[in-house]
Amino acid sequence: MLIAGNWKLFKGPAETTEFCRALRGSDLGYADVVVCPPYLSLAAAVTALAGTEIGVAAQNVHWAEQGAYTGEVGPAMLRELGVYGAIVGHSERRQYFGDTDETVARRVRAALEAGLFVIACVGESEEEREAGQTQLVLRVQTEAIAEAARDQRENLVVAYEPIWAIGTGRTATPDLVEEAHLFVKSILDVPVLYGGSVKPENAELLCAQSAVDGALVGGASLDADSFAEICRRSTRS
Ligand code: PEP
Repeated sequence: MLIAGNWKLFKGPAETTEFCRALRGSDLGYADVVVCPPYLSLAAAVTALAGTEIGVAAQNVHWAEQGAYTGEVGPAMLRELGVYGAIVGHSERRQYFGDTDETVARRVRAALEAGLFVIACVGESEEEREAGQTQLVLRVQTEAIAEAARDQRENLVVAYEPIWAIGTGRTATPDLVEEAHLFVKSILDVPVLYGGSVKPENAELLCAQSAVDGALVGGASLDADSFAEICRRSTRS
């Protein structure tokens, strides 16, 4: 079970160090654990978690190694820092920062080629689900990632994150999650994480679904106790 914490725009370096020290001393059950701080806090997380099995990943990555791309960070720079992977194509990047299936594919390709582990996100909006377009949306998004990854899939996982469940407290039902994960896996056969209001109270049930290989956790990953509890409960059944 892979449990990844997406911190979004929370925690500067000092708070990151404090959080990672707390996490080091926590019982995380049998989960494989990754934290994804903002770029500015990655170095603090790498330092504070050195010598542990807890991975550090970025929340995004540019496709170019270097060049005239003001404000961007490339895959080789992340590797140099000791960062192990990156989230790519999170719905907030697609919604607020113009990421498209094409740019997501470029990021996936460049990150995998640089040796980064990639958590590539897919998921439908509420309107798309209500219009019966969930499978169409998942197919288009997943095919773009599959095509970009080509023969380098061993370092790739997909996160299925229905947009209507992110940060809303509305969790998808286990049956809906199972169905979506099986559909994604029928297109791209890699581990699939569920994301969308995962909390200590629902982690065990969601992670008990046979097609669920872990969770991408936003809000509930910001508190070390709650995140550790999710890690423990994810591997309970
Ligand atoms: C996320 O940001 O990827 C996420 C799933 O957020 P939350 O857990 O807060 O819904």
